[in-house]
Amino acid sequence: MPRVEVVGLSKTYGPIKALDDVNLTIEDREYVSILGPSGCGKTTLIKCIAGIIEPTRGEVYIGGRAVRGLMPEDRDVGYVFQEIALFPHMNVWNNVTYGPRVKGWPADRTRSLALEMLDMIGLEDRSNSYPDELSGGAGQKTAVARAVSSGSTLLLLDEPLGALDAKVRADLRYRLRDLVKELNLTAIHVTHDQEEAMSISDRVVVMRAGRIVEEGNPMRLYLRPKNVFTANFLGEANFLQGKVVEVGKEGAVVEVGGCKLRTRDASRKLGEEVVACVRPEFVSIRRPAGKPALRGVIRDVAFKGGVVRYELSISGASVFSDCAAGLEPEGLQRGDEVEVEVDCENVLVFQPPPEGLDRAVSLE
Ligand code: ATP
Repeated sequence: MPRVEVVGLSKTYGPIKALDDVNLTIEDREYVSILGPSGCGKTTLIKCIAGIIEPTRGEVYIGGRAVRGLMPEDRDVGYVFQEIALFPHMNVWNNVTYGPRVKGWPADRTRSLALEMLDMIGLEDRSNSYPDELSGGAGQKTAVARAVSSGSTLLLLDEPLGALDAKVRADLRYRLRDLVKELNLTAIHVTHDQEEAMSISDRVVVMRAGRIVEEGNPMRLYLRPKNVFTANFLGEANFLQGKVVEVGKEGAVVEVGGCKLRTRDASRKLGEEVVACVRPEFVSIRRPAGKPALRGVIRDVAFKGGVVRYELSISGASVFSDCAAGLEPEGLQRGDEVEVEVDCENVLVFQPPPEGLDRAVSLE
C-alpha cells in the first residue's frame, strides 16, 4: 500500500537549496496537496518521489520500500508532469488504457475504467484523436485520465489542471478528487492555487524556500494558521502590529494605533508586542449609530465579484473588510466614516517575526 515517507530530503543545485531537509509522511489513500509560491521546491519534491530527480540527501519510501536508484517506471506511480507528454503515436483511447493493458487487466475492466475517465474529462468523442490534434487543455485532461487509470495506486500530479480554463479547472478538480477516493488511490498534488488545494485535499502542505512551513487540514490551516506566512499565503489577511494591554481568561486585548482589538488568545503576556491578524471577511462595517467602539474611514471600494471589498483607514492603519456582494451596507462610499466590528473569535495573535513582518510573509 502506498504510504509515502520522505525522510531528510535535500536537493541542492550549486548554492540553491531547492529542498532543505524535508520530512513528510503521506498516508495510504490520502489526498495531499503541496502548496507554495513559485520556486519553493514543490516540483523538486514530487519529482524526487517519482524518481525523476535524484536527491542530494535523504530517502523516499513508497509502501515501506526505499526507492533510491529505482527508475520512475519501477516505482509503480501514475503521474502528470508538465513536460512529460502523452505517447504521441497513440490516440486518446490507447493513451488512457495504456497502464491497465501493460498490467494485463481484463479487457472489460480496462474498458469500463477508460469510459469513466473519458466521461470525466469530457472527451468521449475524441478517443480516436492523436495528441497533436488536441488543444493544450484537452491534452492535459487526457494526461490526468491516463494517470488516474494507470492501475497504480499512487498518483503524482504536478499542476495537473494548470492549462485549463478557470471554470473547467474548478469542475475537474472535484471529479478528480472523487475518482481518487472512489478508486482508493493516494494522491500527491502540486499546485500554487490555494483554492484548488484547500477545496480538494485531506491535507495541505505549505512550502517555502525548500522547506515545509506548516501542514494540516485545509480549514484548520486557513482559520488557525500557526505562522504569518501561512496566514498570508492561504487567502488574504490584515496584519496589525500592536501591544497586549489586557489579559484575562477570555483572551487578550491588543491595542493597535489607539484602537482596542479583542482576541480569544489567553496565552499572551501584558505589554507583549504582537502581530494581530484577521481575515477581511471577519471585519464588518456599518453606518455609525451612537458612539462606535471602533471607527474607520473608507479609503476605497472595489467590487470583486462575490464580495465587495472596502479598504478602511483605522487610526492610520489600512484594513480590508469584505462583504458578500448584494449584502453590503447601501450607499457607502469613499470618505464615509463607518463603525467597524471585528469578529474576536477570528483574530489570531502572533509573535512579531524576528526578520520583520514584510520579510516573513514575502513570497520570495
Ligand atoms: P514553480 O511553481 O514555479 O514550478 P516550484 O515550487 O515547483 O516552482 P522548483 O521547480 O522545485 O520550484 O524549484 C525550486 C528551486 O530550485 C528554484 O529556485 C529553482 O530555480 C531551482 N531549480 C530547479 N531545478 C533546477 C536545475 N535543474 N538547476 C538549477 N536550479 C534549479
